[in-house]
Amino acid sequence: MYLSLAKRFLLETDKRLLFKAGWTLGVRGLWSVHKHKRRLKRGEFFPPFLYLSVINSCNLRCQGCWVDVAAKQHRIELDAANETIRQAKAMGNSFFGILGGEPFMHKDLMKIFEANRDVYFQVFTNGHFITDEVAAELRRLGNVTPLISVEGTEMISDTRRGRDGVLSQTMKGLEAALRHKLLVGVCTSVCKTNIDDLVRDEWVDRLIEMGVMYCWFHIYRPVGPEPNLQLSLSSEEQRRVRQFVVDTRATKPIIVVDAYHDDAGNALCPAATGFTHHVGPWGDIEPCPVIQLATESIHDDRPLAETMNKSAFLKDFRELTAQHTRGCVIMERPDLLIELAEKHGARDTTARGRVIDELEKIQPRRSQYQPGQEIPERSFVYRWAKKYAFNDFGTYARHFDVAKYQDPDEQVDSQSQAKSDLPILS
Ligand code: SF4
Repeated sequence: MYLSLAKRFLLETDKRLLFKAGWTLGVRGLWSVHKHKRRLKRGEFFPPFLYLSVINSCNLRCQGCWVDVAAKQHRIELDAANETIRQAKAMGNSFFGILGGEPFMHKDLMKIFEANRDVYFQVFTNGHFITDEVAAELRRLGNVTPLISVEGTEMISDTRRGRDGVLSQTMKGLEAALRHKLLVGVCTSVCKTNIDDLVRDEWVDRLIEMGVMYCWFHIYRPVGPEPNLQLSLSSEEQRRVRQFVVDTRATKPIIVVDAYHDDAGNALCPAATGFTHHVGPWGDIEPCPVIQLATESIHDDRPLAETMNKSAFLKDFRELTAQHTRGCVIMERPDLLIELAEKHGARDTTARGRVIDELEKIQPRRSQYQPGQEIPERSFVYRWAKKYAFNDFGTYARHFDVAKYQDPDEQVDSQSQAKSDLPILS
């Protein structure tokens, strides 16, 4: 299997892009994690991976999206983006996630890539703007991997993403990227309506046949202005996705990304561990893309390194959430985020201005943290890589307090018992 994967990489992608990815993501990526560990030892902080949502606009209207895609357009402008990347590079970072809205609607996106050829970008995109010209330019630049989202079969995709023809347009973008031998990934926000179609061998086999090199199965998180609870996975279904990821990694010649478990299958939150933080389209520095609260911005006067290191809000976020859960705080304990926002006077970073109200309405549910049900990695390569480069860096040993953990499933059970209208028998 490892041999077939290596063969695929060698034969199906542009060698120059492959070498660049190996160097920037592999060698320099490991170095940035190493520097992060050393900073932590010195009591300093800067996340080794930054996500930048460069624009809020999008051509689609997906169910459950938390971005103000229909609001007036805001962008991280070219100079601000370059300066942020420059300062992060100075801290050793070499990999950046680019999100939106739809990033390819940013008029200067290619200029950002061009100005920063020494780092690698992963672009989260619906693929609609990847024409042959765009794909050819990405190949020339050699430092971008498109991560194209596919949300289900034609009908499911179109329903989830708000209009007809979405999947076929996405597939055209995917094919253009593959024709130009880019390193392409496909991601899915797994929910009730696509789990049976996409979390299965046949789908992964099709991706491999097409030439896709990696896939990423996120869990749908019912957050934002219009959370769709019917789409949320149960605890069992989330474990099913995790098992599928672990099995696929051990058996199929494709890389499977997941950001929520260490080598032993222990859950973690990459924002609570400080592995990543996020910059929104207005420049606000948020714990992660779905937590739209901030006290600092990239537009502040002080250097980014100082902002990250000295942010009391982000530090408190990491510690408070890690004390209470190894899972996703916005799914399990939205009340903690409200507490945190009040304590630090954090601003709502959305155009709609209703984040606290939205947090109050979230019905807590289990996330990746399912104590006693951990599913360890089967593949020795992932085990090794995670042991060294993707784990909690001691966060939970330092902060997690089991007495503070509240199991959302037990709360749902006790609430449903409390609401029972069966007569009490004496
Ligand atoms: S808070 Fe939740 S959505 Fe944000 S990084 Fe952590 S696990 Fe992911």
